[in-house]
Amino acid sequence: MRWSFQIAKFFGIPIRVHITFFLLLIFIGLYGSRLQGARSGLFGIVSIILIFLCVIIHEFAHSLVARKYGVKIKDIILLPIGGVSEMEELPSQPKQEINVALAGPLTSIVLSLIFFFAYRLLFPEAKAVNISIFQGNLFLNLFAINLMLAIFNLIPAFPMDGGRVLRGILGLKMDLLQATRVAVGIGEFLAILFFFFGLFFNPWLALIAVFIFLGAEGEKRATELKVEISDVPVRVAMLSNVEAISPDVTLSQVLEKICHGLQQDFPIMEGKEFLGILSRGTFFSALHNHSKETKVREIMSREFTSTSEDAPLSEAFQRMNSEKLSVLPVMQGKIFKGLISLEQIGKYHMLCGLRK
Ligand SMILES: [Zn+2]
Repeated sequence: MRWSFQIAKFFGIPIRVHITFFLLLIFIGLYGSRLQGARSGLFGIVSIILIFLCVIIHEFAHSLVARKYGVKIKDIILLPIGGVSEMEELPSQPKQEINVALAGPLTSIVLSLIFFFAYRLLFPEAKAVNISIFQGNLFLNLFAINLMLAIFNLIPAFPMDGGRVLRGILGLKMDLLQATRVAVGIGEFLAILFFFFGLFFNPWLALIAVFIFLGAEGEKRATELKVEISDVPVRVAMLSNVEAISPDVTLSQVLEKICHGLQQDFPIMEGKEFLGILSRGTFFSALHNHSKETKVREIMSREFTSTSEDAPLSEAFQRMNSEKLSVLPVMQGKIFKGLISLEQIGKYHMLCGLRK
């Protein structure tokens, strides 16, 4: 993710912090100081750092269980809204999905218990106080916050962990699409309840409800797409009638082609030999950094990922998503057969939806 940098690495998984997280720290420090003086400001900053450490541990629990099932973990990013594990697509076997999703909230519950017992042990005389990130007892605060984190994440609605647990449980009895649809329905029903409840009692809850509703819809659409393209070969959706370019054409000549034609991505061929792909993304960033008279040969990369005509479309889709590519060459050995792009997959999905 842009504007984020690595602060540590555990179990081979890099932890990155997004720059906006520091803005949150500054904001909390200033807000606390204005509210109750510099001590509260400092207390707020320490609280936020500790809370986010707990969030990282929660994310690590998801990631380590997912890795046990062979899922590659790219990194864990800390954003002001929480932590995100960037990983390949999660397992769609119900039991694995349940275990990966449950690992986070269970870890938060364990953390909350640890803080609770530490609090009782270290401060046996203390009386209960209000939970705040600006004052009070850090141990008691972290107990309460981890408990809330666990409960909030167990709400059975996408994109919360509870939504995945629910789909996993339903998935033991029905297929993935059906399980997703039922889980999304329950999640959306809850979101609507939260929304109206929030309107009257707590505007934050109403906002969270909107976020849950959109997350649930997104999950449903992504699963429908995945299921629909899982037993379709790449051949069915690929662009086979494509114009190739020579590595000696210049960027300005490619610009002409893009402006006056429909094609956006070009295979680069020298005679019959396939050399690589010039995708729209690579082309525009090259145009930004090089002169228009630069030859394609100078900017192209000779390493490329490819797929084959018989590979399932869902596999090509997954590969493009995890490697952040918009297009893949379809190859048969060393022979170039065509292009498959996210756009083509979207088009195929839309058209096959219309056929039904
Ligand atoms: Zn989680």
